[in-house]
Amino acid sequence: MKRALYIKFLITYLIIGIVGFVVISTIGSYLVEGKVEERISQQLYQEANNIAQSQGESYYTNQLTVRELYNSLTSLAEYQNAEIWLINRDGEILIDTESELDLDNPDMLSNFNPAVSTDKFYRVGTFYGHFSQKMLSVMVPVTSNMSTRGYLAIHYRMSDLYDERESMLGNVYLIGFVLYISSFLLLALFSSSVYNPLKKIITGANEYAAGNLEYHIPVETNDEMGYLASTLNYMSGELAKSEDYQHTFISNVSHDFRSPLTSIKGYTEAMLDGTIPVEMQEKYLNIILFETERLNKLTKGLLTLNNMDDKGRMLDITSFDINQVIKNTAATFEGICRTKKVIIELLFSDTALWVSADMSKIQQVLYNLIDNALKFSNKDSSIVVETTEKHGKVFVSVKDSGIGIPKESINKVWDRFYKIDTSRGKDRKGTGLGLAIVKDIINAHNQNINVISTEGVGTEFIFTLDKSTPNNSTTL
Ligand code: ATP
Ligand code: MG
Repeated sequence: MKRALYIKFLITYLIIGIVGFVVISTIGSYLVEGKVEERISQQLYQEANNIAQSQGESYYTNQLTVRELYNSLTSLAEYQNAEIWLINRDGEILIDTESELDLDNPDMLSNFNPAVSTDKFYRVGTFYGHFSQKMLSVMVPVTSNMSTRGYLAIHYRMSDLYDERESMLGNVYLIGFVLYISSFLLLALFSSSVYNPLKKIITGANEYAAGNLEYHIPVETNDEMGYLASTLNYMSGELAKSEDYQHTFISNVSHDFRSPLTSIKGYTEAMLDGTIPVEMQEKYLNIILFETERLNKLTKGLLTLNNMDDKGRMLDITSFDINQVIKNTAATFEGICRTKKVIIELLFSDTALWVSADMSKIQQVLYNLIDNALKFSNKDSSIVVETTEKHGKVFVSVKDSGIGIPKESINKVWDRFYKIDTSRGKDRKGTGLGLAIVKDIINAHNQNINVISTEGVGTEFIFTLDKSTPNNSTTL
């Protein structure tokens, strides 16, 4: 199978990873930097104001010496990891916490112009060209007696700010990486629980399409995929069975037609070429007649089954007296009963018992069942046909005290062409279609048929019919 789906997933996954990384390192970095800058500048601005209002003012009102102010600012600068300046109005740096106090030779800021206002309360740059690296600087005036005496500036190295940004971004990268790996695990899980079974199912479907119905899809999980696979396995099993069934059916039909035809052909040729003398011909003509009757029966049986398959449920349902139909059917066996010395006993609870069914089909059911009962009965025995009524259903039973059916064959007697043991020699003429026809007819009526049998004791077939009222009756 093409790995298209899998590769698409992998590529999408990689693209998501790369895009995620690029987004974090550009937009993420920009946003984080903005936030850090804002936080630090606010903090420094507040600090600068505090210092200006307390120490700055104290210095200008001579409450603090310059040395004392210098020491205090140095420790504050260290604490803030920044550089603090006190600048006079002309731009002379009186105190710089990064260098020694030197009031005689103060550094001078060129072009110092505190009046130039910016839209922000801080600025990023080299602060009048004084620094060689970028600094974030805040500057506030130091006032005393309502007039500006100087300025207090705090400078924070941008490189430190970038370090902070990187450490924050590092966390984001870590979270992103963990999420990325977890999604990879999810992908792997998806692959093992959906993609792999799906692949096996598709392989199975291809095998079935190529005619290999024996193929078993190896997905045994207890989820939708497992359910789908077992449904397909079941479907292919059923298809294989019906294929097998068709195969055996055709070979049975061919076999059952071939044997009588072979013997008819053989005897006819023998008669024609004189191998069988004229005085013996009657015997062989009788055999030919017997085989022809068998062929006729076989053809009729197949036609009936075929009609049941085709028309299926197209039954001619009427209301009729089942007891009467049983009497009529039993009567057709009078001749055989006499020669076999078998009595057919009819046990009816009421004189008339009305049922709703296709009369001619039910007649055929009765005929086939009584025919079997007679065929497999011993001489001087009796067959009982009984009708009873229970809960709106009519039960018809055909019971003999014949040879019975072995346990292992009881479920197979309904199969087309099934005959228990042809060597029992009871019935050479039988086609093995009788009970298959019975079952089809009863099923078409949505009724049930059952068989109870003990080998050597006897067999009973019981089927149900719907009870009806005598209205709309068919006269027999
Ligand atoms: P046909 O009905 O075409 O004459 P058949 O009687 O052999 O052929 P079925 O009626 O389908 O075919 O019966 C199938 C097999 O079941 C029989 O060959 C027989 O072995 C067994 N069987 C059916 N009815 C009885 C019965 N009453 N007692 C013992 N065995 C039976
Ligand atoms: Mg039969």
